[in-house]
Amino acid sequence: MDKQISQIISKAVEGGEITAPELQKLLSVHYLSEEAYLIQWAARKLSAAAAKGKAEVHAQVGINVGPCSKNCHFCSFAPINKVFPKEQVFSRAEIIEKALRFEADGANAIYLMVTANYKMADYLEIARDVRAALKPDTPMVANVDDFDEAGASALKTAGFAGIYHVIRMGEGVVTGIDPKVRLKTVAAAQKAGLLVGTCVEPVGPEHSIAEIVEKTMLAKAMKPVHAGSGRRINIPGSPLEVHGAFTEAQQAPITAAVKLAMGYDIPGHAGGDSSHFAMAGVNLSWAESGSNPRDTKANTVIGGTVDSRRQAFEQAGWEIVEGPSRLFGGR
Ligand code: SF4
Repeated sequence: MDKQISQIISKAVEGGEITAPELQKLLSVHYLSEEAYLIQWAARKLSAAAAKGKAEVHAQVGINVGPCSKNCHFCSFAPINKVFPKEQVFSRAEIIEKALRFEADGANAIYLMVTANYKMADYLEIARDVRAALKPDTPMVANVDDFDEAGASALKTAGFAGIYHVIRMGEGVVTGIDPKVRLKTVAAAQKAGLLVGTCVEPVGPEHSIAEIVEKTMLAKAMKPVHAGSGRRINIPGSPLEVHGAFTEAQQAPITAAVKLAMGYDIPGHAGGDSSHFAMAGVNLSWAESGSNPRDTKANTVIGGTVDSRRQAFEQAGWEIVEGPSRLFGGR
């Protein structure tokens, strides 16, 4: 066992703040090493304490598919990937039905996702209808394009408890969005009283440890209610496919090291759907329906159900929150 690594892990378990160079060191271990397993054990310990032993299953309804001008290379809606040449929007009735199905299945929060090209006014209209159909205490979370302070207030008024927003890996290089714009959106959301969930994603083998560290520190500084780190699922034919993709075993110690850097103050940790990740500190995952940037089908087939996500947590020994998400304000 590398003495320095074990000291950094002990520091994290004892509640110390992990520095950027320390995270760099944690991220440099081989995924099958003794150190990698210790990092995952420690991350599970931190997650369990931070979330009082409970995992959550959230659920996302993707509202539209079609070409998105931001052209993020990892996304099926990017025109460069030629998956969805035409805009297609699920009907209001279908969207509400999907959200209600998730709620009835036990999802702790409902996310509504659109591509960056979708008009905010139309999104807010749909959101108000979904809000009216859901139980009043089921938190709704927005996964949308960047917005200003007026947009943040409008989301809050429409009944959202929070947003999911990420400074993605390679932001501004393999995406058409300036990272500063993403940060401004997060600030506007928090000013309006919206809680923020984020992640260090989508991670691929081509990314440097330095960039994972940089994005982790940015995510932590947002003071999110949930964070994590997820691997890229390659869209067939995308320009990123040439780099390959991490296996679960390769990603799990990365997700776990990111948890050690996030510490006890951030209760939610995401980054993978299987029991393997749940054993390594993940205590939040998503069921998905409708459009999905990782899928080439308009109505996703790779997004799991609430039941499959719950089963993965149960298999890893997690209890699951019943009712409204604690991360987004429920009790
Ligand atoms: S990730 Fe979002 S912003 Fe980027 S292309 Fe896909 S839908 Fe558009």
